[in-house]
Amino acid sequence: MKLGVLEAGGTKMVCAIGDETGQIFEHTLIDTREPEATLQDIIAYFKDKEIDALGIGCFGPIDLDEASPTYGYITSTPKPGWADCDVVGTIQKEINVPIGFDTDVNSSVLGEVTFGQGKNRKCVVYLTVGTGIGAGICIEGALLHGMLHPEAGHIMLRQREDDTYGGKCPFHKNCMEGLASGPALEARWGVKPATLSKEHEAWDLEAYYIAQALTTYIMVLSPDLIILGGGVMKQEQLFPMIREYVKEMLSGYIKTRELEDMDSYIVPASLEEKQGIMGCLELARRAAEKN
Ligand code: ADP
Ligand code: ZN
Repeated sequence: MKLGVLEAGGTKMVCAIGDETGQIFEHTLIDTREPEATLQDIIAYFKDKEIDALGIGCFGPIDLDEASPTYGYITSTPKPGWADCDVVGTIQKEINVPIGFDTDVNSSVLGEVTFGQGKNRKCVVYLTVGTGIGAGICIEGALLHGMLHPEAGHIMLRQREDDTYGGKCPFHKNCMEGLASGPALEARWGVKPATLSKEHEAWDLEAYYIAQALTTYIMVLSPDLIILGGGVMKQEQLFPMIREYVKEMLSGYIKTRELEDMDSYIVPASLEEKQGIMGCLELARRAAEKN
């Protein structure tokens, strides 16, 4: 099968062609500008490619309820011009193939579950810590949607006493994204997070917040694998610190095989930053199969 991929991000759109085995044959990058021009460029890319189906992993929040009149829309993003944008409908008008549509983080978890280290797991959480924070959740092969989709980066955390930063989330101020996203780090410490030394105190606080969130996910969802990706997680020193804090926060309350081997329980993404694209291939394959 010839499958199309659109990884729709706030700064760039990745368009690609691949197949159901996870192979990617070609790709291109399109800058995210206002919706109309951006979507026209995307349509032009796929127009003569003769794809059998398209998989779209999109920044959100998005409407995933197939019974809703705004299915396939980006809904309440603060990104100028993109709120209430009909992504799926606009593309489908020009490229008439089955379209699989989900969040960018659900695509990433699906990539890991189908082609990476998430194979044969019961419940996998993929958390990205970047410009925003979000989690994709896959339970026994199915992506968790519920009424919308999880927004697990916007959970409330207990702020550490020595942290007086007010928080950066435009909706909730000091939710997890408000305290621990890349822009929150930049606002708290006054420099680009990538320029902070590995020993900087920022990372201990960051690990503390990420660990609090993971502890909540562990209690609520009982995942058997947790994958961490996104720009901030390029700070590899965070991994051992996060594992240590999670152990401390769980306080021995839960005993499982997975928790005994933290190094293989809380892990970095495994598909060389292609987990999102590869997940979109599987979204496309599933859309074709459903059709
Ligand atoms: P996006 O979330 O926009 O898709 P990324 O996952 O790359 O993109 O996240 C970008 C965020 O990650 C920015 O806030 C940036 O400051 C931060 N970031 C990027 N690289 C690093 C790094 N090496 N160390 C710490 N933070 C980083
Ligand atoms: Zn928030």
